[in-house]
Amino acid sequence: MNAERRPRIGVLALQGAVRPHVDAIREVGGEPIEVRLPRDLVHLDALILPGGESTTMRRLVDAYGLREPISAMARGGTPLLGTCAGMILLAERLTDGDEPYFGLLDVELRRNGYGRQLDSFETDLTIPAIGDEPLHAIFIRAPVVTGVGPLAEVLARDADGNPVAVRQGRVLATAFHPELTPDRRIHRLLVELVGETSRRPA
Ligand code: GLN
Repeated sequence: MNAERRPRIGVLALQGAVRPHVDAIREVGGEPIEVRLPRDLVHLDALILPGGESTTMRRLVDAYGLREPISAMARGGTPLLGTCAGMILLAERLTDGDEPYFGLLDVELRRNGYGRQLDSFETDLTIPAIGDEPLHAIFIRAPVVTGVGPLAEVLARDADGNPVAVRQGRVLATAFHPELTPDRRIHRLLVELVGETSRRPA
């Protein structure tokens, strides 16, 4: 990362939990950019796909012509972070006949897989990739990761052993909402990926 320039981190701002991600980006020293149109993607160093309602979000991404440009960014190595519904959009495989969307993450998910009893819950997670201190995590109608392929690396699991944070190269995804707690280590990890991208040999 160029020391004089703050990394420009986009947040897909069509639907869902946009504002807390924007605030989190500022807190880790980035410049947040709200993305609604393809032109908002120009010069981004990373992009966040927030939580919300993945069916609505994928319709809006299509309607605003963002699907292909976001896929192209990811293929070009721009780091992405998908949280909750964002993770659903990134997954290669969905259960129950749901169609995958970007298909950038070698995992299988079940939408709303934690079930009605656990619509929302909070728990502490151990995530060695970001340090020893547990991370307090909020899950809201979260997807359950039902399978992880060889290309994806599990960064954290819930108490039942289900993966809840996954990384595949420069694509990060969490089933929980890291923007809703004050701990900024997940957003910092995204900014570190930006640094790795810009140090990459041409
Ligand atoms: N349940 C939502 C979906 O299936 C995701 C919920 C969230 O992003 N908090 O799209």
